[in-house]
Amino acid sequence: MALISCADGLPRRGRVTWSPSVTLVPTRSCFNACGYCSFRRPSDPANPLADALRDDQARALLASRPTAAEVLLLSGEVAPAAPQRRAWLQRLLALCRLAWAQGRLPHTNAGPLALREMAALARLNGSMGLMLEGLGPAYAALHAHAPSKRLELRLAQLEQAGRLGIPFTTGLLLGVGETTAERRAALELMAQLQRRWGHLQEVILQPFRPDGCQSQRLSQAEQADLLGTIAEARRILPAEVHLQMPPNLWPLDTLPAALEAGIDDLGGLDCIDVINPAYPQPSEARLAAVLARAGIDLVPRLCVHGAWLRFLPAALQLQARRVEARLLASLP
Ligand code: SF4
Repeated sequence: MALISCADGLPRRGRVTWSPSVTLVPTRSCFNACGYCSFRRPSDPANPLADALRDDQARALLASRPTAAEVLLLSGEVAPAAPQRRAWLQRLLALCRLAWAQGRLPHTNAGPLALREMAALARLNGSMGLMLEGLGPAYAALHAHAPSKRLELRLAQLEQAGRLGIPFTTGLLLGVGETTAERRAALELMAQLQRRWGHLQEVILQPFRPDGCQSQRLSQAEQADLLGTIAEARRILPAEVHLQMPPNLWPLDTLPAALEAGIDDLGGLDCIDVINPAYPQPSEARLAAVLARAGIDLVPRLCVHGAWLRFLPAALQLQARRVEARLLASLP
């Protein structure tokens, strides 16, 4: 099996990429309270970092996924003006350095960042991410108690990442009551950003799924609606932007239809999804078997797609090449 490190970065038919990944949660404490979130633990104002992930805990998690090239840092947020913000950022940076020391490449998604915070993380991350989430009244209601989720702030963050030249992932949470026109408007904003900066390497089209103890399969009507949005995203976004679908949130037996509509990436896959724990990730073998029946190859990649490697500073490019060699050596 070949590793994707292609030069053109264009989505191609007949194959879909994924990134073998291990997830670290620096903290679940978050000063936002999004209406759909089951990840967050309410922040203790006196000590918002009470549950901060220690190095020994992180090492144990990394050891449990020895072949994961990507270390996905998904963090709850400390308020920008809180006295603990600096310690929170230092914890994120320390976990990124730990990933480097183990021959991995971090990808951090930790909410909106000040310019100097984003720049510091960018020196250690192969790519970074921030969901746009969406726009319109349905999102406004869900984000009424989430100051980080204001649309202007998210757009300014995507702009800031573009100015810093960071290979970036963004995306939409779909199915919370938004209209087709609102989805289209959000995709057009992303397309404008990509045409200006060229840093958006992938857009996640994430179906909203209710949490709980058991997963709930997307209905046929929901799938049909989302297939239309995937096709529209493919039409609106520049051709080089990869479209990503988390495979645990889409019925595995109909995943080829999502790929046929325009999905060409399955994202960073760990054994569990810490955001949607009721929706377990399919194993690589199971995914590969389902896709092979549809004539589609499942191809591993780094968190930074090949065409965006040139965006990285020299030290990060070198680390990416080392991680790539290690990933290639781990393939059967
Ligand atoms: S910002 Fe993220 S972690 Fe915080 S409440 Fe919203 S979805 Fe949950």
